[in-house]
Amino acid sequence: MSNRFIGARQTTLAREIQLTGTGVHSGAPVSLTLHPAEADTGLRFLVTKRGKVISEIAAHVANVKNLTLCTVIGDGAGTTVGTVEHLLAALRGLSIDNLYIEIDSKEVPIMDGSSAVFVDAIDRVGIRELSEPRKYIKVLKPVRVEENGCWGTLEPHAGFRMDVEIDFSSPIIGNQRLQYEMSPGVFRHEISRARTFGFMSDVEKLWKAGLALGADLTNTVAIGEDKIMNKEGLRYPQEFVRHKMLDAVGDLALAGMPLLGAYRSYRGGHRLNSMVLQALFSDASNWEIALAPRARATRSPVHLVPQTVVAAE
Ligand SMILES: [Zn+2]
Repeated sequence: MSNRFIGARQTTLAREIQLTGTGVHSGAPVSLTLHPAEADTGLRFLVTKRGKVISEIAAHVANVKNLTLCTVIGDGAGTTVGTVEHLLAALRGLSIDNLYIEIDSKEVPIMDGSSAVFVDAIDRVGIRELSEPRKYIKVLKPVRVEENGCWGTLEPHAGFRMDVEIDFSSPIIGNQRLQYEMSPGVFRHEISRARTFGFMSDVEKLWKAGLALGADLTNTVAIGEDKIMNKEGLRYPQEFVRHKMLDAVGDLALAGMPLLGAYRSYRGGHRLNSMVLQALFSDASNWEIALAPRARATRSPVHLVPQTVVAAE
């Protein structure tokens, strides 16, 4: 494993990013602006209404409000932001520590159902290294959560290891398991383009419930009785488990800092991912904040991380 990505310093974006898209559940248009932020800001949502910020919500598991279909975070006063996981996956996957995420809707736009659009946008503006050392949530003791035949564990580990297994009765998916030592290179190439998926048989139920109104074949892999409905097919072998890993990277970003630990899940989802983090934080002896070793003094305190270096991993 290369430690090049276990960067010594905190990061933010080099420049602002503006994106527009559609909420997958509301079907409503959304504008999203990612603003560079200083060290120790973390990832924070700024919810706006008619151009004014009405709520600031830290991307932290303590602020999780709902986990039924996507991950929803909120403040104490009723303002929420949903479908945060694919954006948070891109930010954590590419090792961005600090950012203000301005949004004028209750839902992060679905884009193509993966993290690809966010990754491409980040690659266009670049990442800025800050002078402060990176902080991690270091797992000190194993934690395990089990519910309805699904389970997840976090164990001490010197990097960020992901091991995700799914097991669907649909023969189109079946059993898939994938393990990676996560790094920006692995995230970008192996995970970031994996799309959300859903069963045709569920779509009607969701629509009746007023959900998934923006879901279509441009942002969801649709699974029929015995085939995939999207005529372009899959983007990766085992795209389904790759997307589950993408979701888990995004959900685990709600630790508030990058994790030093090994995550394993079996038949997991947003709810399980979040419950494992809650279990970790439920006992102060399970974890500690660890500082990255001091960066070499020869580097300038603020500079662009060349994307070619990142991509070369
Ligand atoms: Zn997802």
